[in-house]
Amino acid sequence: MRDLSRHNRFLSINTATLRRERPPAEVVPAQDAAGIPGIGPGREQIQAIGIKGAARLIGDHGLTVSGVSRAGVFTAQGRSGLRQVVDDNRRAVDEAAGIGARCLVLIGGGLIPGSRDLADARKLFAEGLSALLPHARAANLPLAIEPLHPMYAADRACINTLAQANDLCDALGAGVGVVVDVYHTWWDPNLEREIARAGKRILAFHLSDWLVPTTDLLLDRGMMGDGVIDLPLIRSWMEAAGYRGPHEVEIFSERNWWKRDPDEVLATCVARHQTAC
Ligand code: ZN
Repeated sequence: MRDLSRHNRFLSINTATLRRERPPAEVVPAQDAAGIPGIGPGREQIQAIGIKGAARLIGDHGLTVSGVSRAGVFTAQGRSGLRQVVDDNRRAVDEAAGIGARCLVLIGGGLIPGSRDLADARKLFAEGLSALLPHARAANLPLAIEPLHPMYAADRACINTLAQANDLCDALGAGVGVVVDVYHTWWDPNLEREIARAGKRILAFHLSDWLVPTTDLLLDRGMMGDGVIDLPLIRSWMEAAGYRGPHEVEIFSERNWWKRDPDEVLATCVARHQTAC
């Protein structure tokens, strides 16, 4: 097991950076070999080998789980389907807790199917979150609300700003925190203020870059340093707010990084984390 006390602000890789469908038995050893102490697996990767299998594999390689992606999406089946979605989220809590994750990442879900009422979608997200919270508290597993860029408000995520996420934390209390993802939040004129406001509630920090031009709304994220986000500035705000946790690289890149050799991608993440962040 690595001594993480010497690696505050340590690097973690969200496994989607190497394509989600790559099997955990490949990804975990590759990250270990690259000297990367953290991992952010997707739920499907835990499910592929079971909670115990995933815990063993990750533990054998001494990796820390920076977070599990992703759950939430409480709007997906409307109000009548909320109970079912919350049940699935409880399973996600068990999966994340079972592999010792630092948090479970929640995204909003888009508009309720058939509706144009964005305010109602946001209300339903809050209802789902408060229904899930007792189970997460019992499992001692923090829920991390990740606001996504407003371009996803219709189909993916009705929680779009750190202010919204902070408001939900204020309303719900212990057991809920936030994710700051530079890709989703860099444009926000209130970002510095809201990071300071989040303070100890910041559970995760996600890194990538915003390419100009961006050719795909979902699958064209850039490697740190290849885009226009002032990463050192945002990092300085995070540290001023007291955040000392993992830096998780999360890059969905169909036209570039997903086509490359995983070892090259990991080596590039390590290098750019040092030079561009
Ligand atoms: Zn993220």
